[in-house]
This record gives sequence, structure tokens and C-alpha cells, in this order.
Amino acid sequence: MKHPFERVRGVRVREGESLSKHTSFRIGGDARYFIYIDSRRALRRILEISRRDRIRYFPIGAGTNVLVADAGYDGAVLKLSGVFKRLRRKESVFWCGSGVLIEHFLREATKAGYGGGEFLAGIPGTLGGAVKGNAGAFGHAIGELVVAVHLMDEHGLELVRAKSEIMFTYRSTDIDHSRIITAVHLRLKKKNRRIIRSKIERNLSIRRVRQPVGYSAGSFFKNPPGRAAGELIDTCGLKGMSVGDAEVSRKHGNYIINRGHARAADVVELAERVRKAVRKQTGVALEEEVRLLS
Ligand SMILES: Cc1cc2nc3c(=O)[nH]c(=O)nc-3n(C[C@H](O)[C@H](O)[C@H](O)COP(=O)(O)OP(=O)(O)OC[C@H]3O[C@@H](n4cnc5c(N)ncnc54)[C@H](O)[C@@H]3O)c2cc1C
Repeated sequence: MKHPFERVRGVRVREGESLSKHTSFRIGGDARYFIYIDSRRALRRILEISRRDRIRYFPIGAGTNVLVADAGYDGAVLKLSGVFKRLRRKESVFWCGSGVLIEHFLREATKAGYGGGEFLAGIPGTLGGAVKGNAGAFGHAIGELVVAVHLMDEHGLELVRAKSEIMFTYRSTDIDHSRIITAVHLRLKKKNRRIIRSKIERNLSIRRVRQPVGYSAGSFFKNPPGRAAGELIDTCGLKGMSVGDAEVSRKHGNYIINRGHARAADVVELAERVRKAVRKQTGVALEEEVRLLS
């Protein structure tokens, strides 16, 4: 049977696509539709059809901060490609499609001699995902670089929001889940290339020491005010705790690692046990940083 997006140009639709292939956790069931979208026009059509046919949708970046339910997602997962991967520069402002990877952005900025985003080095994912969750490290977050964000709402209407109109908080923004970030404008500063490169290298080497390897979504919990979630988990003696193939990393307490065949249910159960133990032993309530897609 034909699917409702059949006639849309500038898209590739896969039905029953396994989402485990599209997330760094390598966990999750199938998406009813997985749609690569190459243009704004195509995105608008997809949103219009989704609205008309009451199909839920979820924009995915590189899938490095999501945990997909074992039952998958009964809707359309939207993957921005094509024009959404373009990057250009007007003086110190970089106009980036939301599908541009952080790594690519930093490489291009460094080549052009612009710095200030070095703290992002080593964070996997797209700029769309990073802006949505105000990703950051080493005491900085991407919101500091944002000049403006281009969005498309569920009606296909395009909006531009200046930085002052968006609330950037710790690992969060007030950008509504129904809105798709199509592009971001980021301001950097002219800097010496050698200094930029050495800062990036330093940050990457710190990460190599601290960060566990394996399938994960990075830090599972947000750091509570003034505390590090990883330290709290470590203090409570929870490193190495596991449910099925999901394990609290022995290297970094705030990473849950999929040892190979973990199910989303295992991760959820393990996270719940960690949360309960930390609450009981320290009184601190941990909140998830990873977004659950079900
Ligand atoms: C090894 C590892 C290390 C990490 N280290 C860090 C770190 O140091 N700091 C940090 O902040 N994070 C870190 N992360 C988490 C993750 O990399 C970041 O949150 C990243 O910004 C997510 O980008 P993404 O493209 O993968 O987004 P996804 O995981 O695909 O999506 C995350 C959220 O953003 C939304 N989203 C994605 N694209 C769009 C769009 N175009 N429009 C609207 N919404 C969108 C999704 O719907 C979802 O709600 C790490 C993850 C891993 C695996």
C-alpha cells in the first residue's frame, strides 16, 4: 500500500526503519516512517501531511541524545539532509543548516580562523540537536554563540527567533517540541588558528581520558545545581550496576553503556534504580538529560 508521503519531492521515505541504527545507544524499535528531507519545501509538505493525517513526528539529529523505546515510534522520524547540511559564513557569523555536524562546523570555523566554539569539540551530533538541548561542556554552552534560530512550526510556517527570544538554560531551551530547527546562526571571534587547534586538541584529550567508550547517549542525567551527577552516582557505589546488557559505566558514573544487546526497558529500569539509590543516599533527585522517544 502507498504511504501518505508518496508524492512529496525531495524526500526519501523508509517504512519500518530500525531506529537502533540511527542512535548512538544502538537501541530502539522501528519508526513507522523514517524520512530524509532535503529542502524546506519538502519539510513543509511533510509537516502539512502529518498534520492532515494526524501522524506524529519527531526531528532527529544524529541520535546521540535519545533513547528509543523497544516498541519503536508510531510516527514519522524526520532527518534533515540536503540544504540542511549547508554552511556559509558572513564575516563572524556562521549560517548553518541544522543538520550540520558540530565536528564539521568546528573544522570549517578553524579553517577560516574563527574560534570561541572549541568547548564543543568532541560533542557528537548536529547543530540542530545541540541548540535544541543547549549542549555544552567545560562551563560553556552553545546558546552563548547563538545569534538567531530559524524554525518551522507544525503548520509549515517559517519563523526566525533572535537569541533574546529564546530561553537557554542548562541543557535545555524553551523551543517547543513541535517546532523544527532548520538553521542556526552562530557568532565566533577571529582568532589565531594555532590557538584554536590546540584548544580543540586539549579538550579532545581531556574527553579521551574521562569519557567511556561504547554505545551510550553521553551523560544520562543532568548535573544537579552545584553537583556532578557522575560523582553522586560514584559515591553511592553504583558504578558497574547493570540490568540486562545496560550498565552504569565503570569509568564515568553518569554514562549508561549498552554492552551490546541492551533493550530500552533495561536502560529505563537501570536509570530508575540509580535515581532511587541516589535519592535515598543523598537526598538529590536526578533528572534525565537523555530524551526518551516512545
Ligand atoms: C559520547 C557522547 C558524549 C556526549 N557529550 C556531551 C557533552 O559533553 N555535552 C552535551 O551537552 N551533550 C553531550 N552528548 C549528548 C549529545 O551529543 C548532545 O546533546 C547533542 O547536542 C545531540 O545532538 P543530536 O544531533 O544527536 O540530537 P538528537 O539526539 O538526534 O536529538 C536530541 C533532541 O534534539 C531534538 N532535535 C534534533 N534535531 C532537531 C531539529 N533540527 N529541530 C528540532 N529539534 C531537534 C530531538 O528531537 C531531540 O529532542 C554526548 C553524547 C555522546 C554519545
